Amino acid sequence: MRFSATSYDFTEYVRNDNYINGEWVDAPGRERIDVINPRYGKAMSTVPMCGYEEVDAAVKAAEAAQPAWANQPIRERAYVFYKLRELMHRDVEELTWLVSHENGKTYGESKAEVLKAIECVEYGCSLPNLAAGTQLDVSRGVNCQVVYEAVGVVAGVTPFNFPIMVPLWMIPQALVGGNAFILKPSEQVPLSMIRLAELFAEAGLPNGIFNIVNGGREVVEALCDHPGIDAFAFVGSTRVAKLVYGRAATSGKRALALGGAKNHLIVVPDADLEVTADNVVASFTGCCGQRCMAASVLVAVGDVDHIIDEVAKRAAKLVPGEHIGAINMDASVDRIRGYVDRAEAGGAKVLVDGRGASGDDGYWFGPTILDGIDADNPARVEEIFGPVLSIVRVANLEEAIALENSSDYGNASAVYTTSGDVARKVMNEVSAGMCGVNIGVPVPREPFGFGGWNDSKFGAGNITGWDGFRFFTRPRKITTKWAVQSDQTWMS
Ligand code: NAD
Repeated sequence: MRFSATSYDFTEYVRNDNYINGEWVDAPGRERIDVINPRYGKAMSTVPMCGYEEVDAAVKAAEAAQPAWANQPIRERAYVFYKLRELMHRDVEELTWLVSHENGKTYGESKAEVLKAIECVEYGCSLPNLAAGTQLDVSRGVNCQVVYEAVGVVAGVTPFNFPIMVPLWMIPQALVGGNAFILKPSEQVPLSMIRLAELFAEAGLPNGIFNIVNGGREVVEALCDHPGIDAFAFVGSTRVAKLVYGRAATSGKRALALGGAKNHLIVVPDADLEVTADNVVASFTGCCGQRCMAASVLVAVGDVDHIIDEVAKRAAKLVPGEHIGAINMDASVDRIRGYVDRAEAGGAKVLVDGRGASGDDGYWFGPTILDGIDADNPARVEEIFGPVLSIVRVANLEEAIALENSSDYGNASAVYTTSGDVARKVMNEVSAGMCGVNIGVPVPREPFGFGGWNDSKFGAGNITGWDGFRFFTRPRKITTKWAVQSDQTWMS
């Protein structure tokens, strides 16, 4: 069903059932909760809160469809993604508005998300050219070969902040790898995936290879526990990532769970004013701070007041509803305000105050900068997930790196400097998986893998790129000997 919005005007989207075996299936008897357009704080759709029964139906459909899909040559599986790419470009405006309406992002941010999702699809298209295994004559007359085979039926669970991109971090590698997929999108933003399922059908994906079961915790736990599911990938908060990683692994699945973040940006006095101010503001206010790659702590080394002044000046000009989008829900606005109130009460200076923000009728919080934050203040330690930048003052680079290292998280970290020496030291010593020099959102774009360290990720490898393909496939090693060699040794 097409989404008709072409502006921010409130628009409803009526379809939202489960998608199992290529069919839209209702979930009778299940509670339905509202899908809220955060810009208006008003329901634009509803979503069924399902459980084990629906997961089981999806597993059965996936199990039935997967062997034939895995038997198709990888090139033919990738062709579906060639077609999907075309369709996503055809519908880029529609998808953009859908993301914007269900998530609350601006049009520009939503379009960037859809385009980045298309990049992930392109990575899937390239897999036939990357996935040739290796082979070697390992001894006289003995050849060893590696081929990557599907794991079977795999599941993915995704967060609210990137309704279309994060699911497409996982799906191309899994499907081109020959698996059948069961997705549980965030119950806050399930609608983009409804459209994606329709686009997959139009692209020629066989029934049962991509399935959606809607809901929350009950569905996730069923996905972790179900014996028919062979691999489980999760993206969301650290609290839940840790729980589901353990639960899925306990039931014998391979698991990868990406969690939350508290990204530290180190600014030294020789940093370029323009580059730094521009990047820091974009990093902490983009998607209203609701990004796992968002700047959260600015570590000010020595006297960088001229840069902080410029950051504050630019951030203060951003108008919620116009330059930055809405917060996902009312409760999140309260949570973010709580961090700012407590920091202020503890003596922090509020350089820019977003607490009074309002736009349409929805959930808003403006850019906020807290200066003079102590290392142990919750605004420095915990993930706020809003447009709040906490500034911690330190005397030197060693202190800055030690502060970054003391965070439980380790998703991203960046340094702003014009010195190669400083950049190199920070890149060598921070404890984060995705690092930036003079760039505030150091997302390792395709083909590089996305994934943090420490409490920002549980499990080995990254979720995107080649690591993602490896997560959703298993290498078979085939050793062959056709004839006894006359010159054989004990190794032959
Ligand atoms: P969340 O952890 O609340 O929810 C994520 C998913 O888990 C949703 O589908 C939700 O339905 C499900 N869920 C929620 N509670 C659960 C429970 N108790 N048991 C099982 N499943 C449960 O996260 P969110 O609020 O949707 O998203 C924001 C979080 O995601 C932030 O912490 C952000 O940093 C993180 N995130 C991380 C990355 C990354 O790559 N590391 C990317 C995007 C978002």
